[in-house]
Amino acid sequence: MVTISDVKSSSSSRENRTATHTHIRGLGLRPDGAAEKIAAGFVGQEGAREACGIIVDLIKARKMSGRAVLLAGPPGTGKTALALAISQDLGPKVPFRPIVGSEVYSAEIKKTEVLMENFRRAIGLRVRETKEVYEGEVTELTPEETENPLGGYGKSISHVVVGLKSFKGTKKLRLDPSIYESIQKEKVSVGDVIYIEANTGAVKRVGRSDAYATEFDLEAEEYVPVPKGDVHKKKEIVQDVTLHDLDVANSRPQGGQDIMSMMGQLMKPKKTEITDKLRAEINKVVTRYIDLGHAELIPGVLFIDEVHMLDIECFTYLNRALESPISPIVILASNRGICQVKGTPDLVSAHGVPPDLLNRLLIIPTTPYIEGEVRSIVQMRARTEGVEVSDAAVEFLAKEGVRISLRYTLQLLAPAQILARVRCGGAGNTKIEDRDVREAEELFIDVGRSRKLVTEGGKAYI
Ligand code: ATP
Repeated sequence: MVTISDVKSSSSSRENRTATHTHIRGLGLRPDGAAEKIAAGFVGQEGAREACGIIVDLIKARKMSGRAVLLAGPPGTGKTALALAISQDLGPKVPFRPIVGSEVYSAEIKKTEVLMENFRRAIGLRVRETKEVYEGEVTELTPEETENPLGGYGKSISHVVVGLKSFKGTKKLRLDPSIYESIQKEKVSVGDVIYIEANTGAVKRVGRSDAYATEFDLEAEEYVPVPKGDVHKKKEIVQDVTLHDLDVANSRPQGGQDIMSMMGQLMKPKKTEITDKLRAEINKVVTRYIDLGHAELIPGVLFIDEVHMLDIECFTYLNRALESPISPIVILASNRGICQVKGTPDLVSAHGVPPDLLNRLLIIPTTPYIEGEVRSIVQMRARTEGVEVSDAAVEFLAKEGVRISLRYTLQLLAPAQILARVRCGGAGNTKIEDRDVREAEELFIDVGRSRKLVTEGGKAYI
């Protein structure tokens, strides 16, 4: 049974790519747009954060279409963190799709196809639907068992009895056994408030009964006139997916051309290729739903790191895609200076981006951190990762962050914690001392030392 509640959006959640940025909760700007020194997990980089705040305002005022942003600065200066924070400040359901320029190169898939897929992963769609539901507080939850009809051992569930209490009274529903899986998935127990979709039997846990008490007072008016004691009502169900989710779900022959049957395909396996024709069909249906007011487009953020890895063909595609009326916000980033534009014989340009595209970008520079800023970032990261770090170790890491790089110091935290644990001969959370960090530094060398190693010991390498 496929229902709207089964729909899983693959990309509206900020995925594991962003695991190293879990301490970032937004740009940390005051209402007047000024950046606090430390706020929302962000430390320093005030100029760039304020510029990003203006981008957020422009996007909200729909004045960014056809344009894109380039974050330009040395490695580890928070470019990815800034792009993520922009998407967070745009709203909780705004898709954030981070990719790296080199990802477009694959033996099987065309570069522009990879770009197109990622564009569509960064465009969200909010679909609103009114459904008939049974809603109430669970008073009883009993699977009714029957002898296995095929004989042999064990019993099987023939029905599930669910008691639902609303302000109109309690109703006992005898439901199809297939609902049991849905009930278990939602971890429903007596005292929870749930709703069950009348047509499909999809179950959704809304909260506990105490929350319901206030909710039903407010919503009492909404109950449709149904026989006394019933718990039937209409409920608006909101669902967030991306255009890519719909492409994938419908990439096999199927019947309906309405958005619900398209969404119904989301859980079905055995997909075939996503063609331009299919995408055009999906766009058509989506546009119709938007025009009817049943759906709303939510442009997200497509972040392309190491944009200098793209070639001229990709840049041409980007230029064109930015013109589309359904384009996400495109944020590019590069830590390169002047370099050759890939795929051209001799075109040299800033950040490896062709001048015509550079021309339409809003460029935001990021700058290296000072010691105090690295110290705060290290402390914040340690807190987020749940590791304890001694003052001496923090001081050492802050200095190394400036001398080597912020990214390198942050990466040392995890191995240093393992070394601290080994030093104390046990498990659990052992405080990282500066000797643990120094030992981790010996085991895992930074880029500078690695370069020195190959330069000096060059002959030993192939
Ligand atoms: P690269 O050019 O190598 O891709 P980058 O500029 O994208 O680097 P990030 O990946 O954003 O750098 O930063 C490296 C790490 O430091 C991440 O864990 C990020 O969350 C953290 N970080 C960077 N800048 C800040 C900051 N100003 N405040 C808090 N954390 C930060």
